[in-house]
Amino acid sequence: MRRAGRMVAEVLMLLRDRIIPGVTSLELDRLAEKQCRKWNVKPAFKGYGGFPFTICASPNEQIVHGFPNTNPLDEGDILSIDFGLISDGFYGDHAITFPVGRVDSDTQRLLDVTHQSLQKGIDAAQPDSFLSDISHAVQSCVETAGFSVVREFVGHGIGRQLHEDPQIPNYGSPGTGPRLRPGMTLAIEPMVNVGKAGVTILDDGWTAVTVDGKLSAHFEHTIAITENGPEVLSRIDS
Ligand code: MG
Repeated sequence: MRRAGRMVAEVLMLLRDRIIPGVTSLELDRLAEKQCRKWNVKPAFKGYGGFPFTICASPNEQIVHGFPNTNPLDEGDILSIDFGLISDGFYGDHAITFPVGRVDSDTQRLLDVTHQSLQKGIDAAQPDSFLSDISHAVQSCVETAGFSVVREFVGHGIGRQLHEDPQIPNYGSPGTGPRLRPGMTLAIEPMVNVGKAGVTILDDGWTAVTVDGKLSAHFEHTIAITENGPEVLSRIDS
């Protein structure tokens, strides 16, 4: 899983370098797929439940599961990219919301808070803590900042399957659910809206957008619980 995690991180860093005004999310999708072919690993999302692309590319008011397309991105946009792959039977899953060129300070704050809420969730993933301690840490961080947490989508266990038990909501009271134990591997993934928490699914059956058209951000890491605390697997030096 460290290897799968390192590879998903490398692909997102590869894409990051291409995210400038004028690029299309379909170009980024092709690039991610090409890298998978080069490594001889399988993209995890393509064909999953019928999802037709290698990456999920969700700009601006799109929350998750957006389809890559040929619309050039504009300066000041944000683009959430979620990407997973399978290496030697194990999954890695990782998401980052990237700024396109320069974004305004309110938008940057959304990215910062969402990233910070992921970090708070990871910090709460200690051996012998409770699963909902993660949920509570994420929610507190987001709502203290004045943003709202999406409830329709959750983090998840990950390993030999992309989505395993338990589900990890990004909200809830601490101290409930299963105890976290060394050896558990989890994908923690806060989705944060500037405005209302609500979600609408577009006619393609996949793309989740905010009900009020305001911005949304998404960060995700695959982590392992170790005796010494959480270890982030979806990173380059993993
Ligand atoms: Mg995930």
